[in-house]
Amino acid sequence: MSTDKLSLVFATNNSHKLEEARRIIGDAFDIVSLADIGCDDDIPEDAPTLEGNAIAKARWIKQRYGYDCFADDTGLEVDALGGLPGVRTARYAGDAHDSGANMRLLLQNLKGCSNRKACFRTAVALILDDKEYCFEGRVDGLIAQQPEGSEGFGYDPVFVPDDFPSSFATLSPDVKNSISHRGRALAAMLDFLNSYLKKTENNA
Ligand code: IMP
Repeated sequence: MSTDKLSLVFATNNSHKLEEARRIIGDAFDIVSLADIGCDDDIPEDAPTLEGNAIAKARWIKQRYGYDCFADDTGLEVDALGGLPGVRTARYAGDAHDSGANMRLLLQNLKGCSNRKACFRTAVALILDDKEYCFEGRVDGLIAQQPEGSEGFGYDPVFVPDDFPSSFATLSPDVKNSISHRGRALAAMLDFLNSYLKKTENNA
């Protein structure tokens, strides 16, 4: 890890998320991957809430590896499905975490349904200097009738954010990050980190 910048481990095995976080957080902080710290643990995600999963993943890293870190958890909440799949978004079509199968099941369950309203919510948990902080981001939109686009990952091809004509998977990474659930949660964390660092420098 570099010594001149604050280093934070991002507790994810998802390379797309890592890339998004590095783009959003930029050069001011050193975002370290699980591979960089030699961690290939299958970190459990069995809490009943997004916030609970995010904090559990961050604690897993802090307690076993000792690093300051952050973790996220995201849920897709669909109005016509009473807020499902929610915390079960990754395993909607089963434990294989298969994005294609998840999207097919979602479109199947919304067949003939005119209310396509949905939102993505992300909780980000940060552990810094032995204190825990939580940040949230949300984006509203609609579930498309069929997948479109090839950018991004997960449910991106079927999620059309409000005020955009087409799915997340048709947007460039920077445009997606500027409006997305995780983009907003990480931007809130970045604001916090910047003022935290300023305060610590002033007190030094
Ligand atoms: P987790 O936060 O990795 O547990 O993600 C939960 C589920 O939401 C997984 O199926 C992800 O593929 C999906 N997901 C998370 N973030 C995004 C996103 O930005 N776009 C589309 N799907 C996402």
